[in-house]
Amino acid sequence: MTCIFCEIIQKKRPAKIIYEDELVVAFNDMNPQAPVHVLVIPKKHIPTLLDIKDEDKVLLGYLFQIANKIAKDKGVSGRGFRLVINCNPESGQTIYHVHLHILGGRWMHWPPG
Ligand code: AMP
Ligand code: ZN
Repeated sequence: MTCIFCEIIQKKRPAKIIYEDELVVAFNDMNPQAPVHVLVIPKKHIPTLLDIKDEDKVLLGYLFQIANKIAKDKGVSGRGFRLVINCNPESGQTIYHVHLHILGGRWMHWPPG
């Protein structure tokens, strides 16, 4: 089964990649919901948050560290930003490769829609 995000990792599909290392890739969301809308994904294909294994503990922590760095680089850390991980259909998950949304650059609403 093809995974859109694995294709981005393999450079088989275009994306505006803003950060990459041996473990993660970050790129602009193609349908941004805020002035800053970046997705941070592990290079390892993990379908949902529910599929996280013991061996992924460090990787998931690292994903948050990179999100932290990107929020600072994009200038939204002091103003505030939101991190979102959707899990399964009712949350709105549409791509089944774990990803962290970084949203910033505007006031966020609570509760979320
Ligand atoms: P989710 O609804 O949490 O699964 O988030 C999937 C996100 O991926 C959505 O915000 C989409 O706009 C975004 N997206 C889907 N395909 C691409 C793509 N090829 N490049 C960049 N972002 C994408
Ligand atoms: Zn994948």
